[in-house]
Amino acid sequence: MDKIHKFEQAGLGLAPYKVTGWDREVYKASPDAPIQPGGTCDYCGQGIMYVFNIESSDGKRFDVGSDCVLKSGEAGIVNMWFVKDEVKIHKAEMRRAKDRTTIAQGNILLRENRDMLATTPHPHGFENKTLADYADWMFKTAGITGQVKTAKLIKNIIEKKYLFISLYCLQIKTNDV
Ligand SMILES: [Zn+2]
Repeated sequence: MDKIHKFEQAGLGLAPYKVTGWDREVYKASPDAPIQPGGTCDYCGQGIMYVFNIESSDGKRFDVGSDCVLKSGEAGIVNMWFVKDEVKIHKAEMRRAKDRTTIAQGNILLRENRDMLATTPHPHGFENKTLADYADWMFKTAGITGQVKTAKLIKNIIEKKYLFISLYCLQIKTNDV
């Protein structure tokens, strides 16, 4: 092996390397705060959510993210495809969980704002049909993607209407003074 591995150049220990494990590390400033990466890549210094534990042949241990673990595979990191697949599965699960939450929230919004949505026109302009009818139909018959789309549409419209109402109230108030 005449080429020096990137990790070795960075002083992280001698090649070849082994992936000894991986985990998802996240950080939330508060329960409602967005999810942020909970780890740091020892190679590039970036914040990382998927943390791969690596061991060099001379026994040094360090962590890298999902990008660095893949681009640095040239000098014999093992288990790479297996690990990559696991991350893929994990990310897909995360996405599914997020979709389920979005759809559940959409159903709640539909229930709580039915009167308003029942006076909003059908998105495809169907006569005598409203957005509430459309949402009922979509949540009953559409696949995951269609239901997510519907949930986002409802949320969007409700937020816009509330914004409009509050601006309108503000205007009345201002005119009063
Ligand atoms: Zn990195």
